[in-house]
Amino acid sequence: MFSVVMHDQLYHVVCRDCPTESLRPSKEAAVEAATDHADDADHDVSVGRVH
Ligand SMILES: [Zn+2]
Repeated sequence: MFSVVMHDQLYHVVCRDCPTESLRPSKEAAVEAATDHADDADHDVSVGRVH
């Protein structure tokens, strides 16, 4: 079996309450960034997949 690492996916982290946004290479990293910012700033942060 091949182990395939997906390098072509990106996740977009966007804050709804301030201009903060970033791109992350995995859903886990995106959710972590979103959670960090939401906890730090008490903002509403969303994560979406970028194709
Ligand atoms: Zn924010």
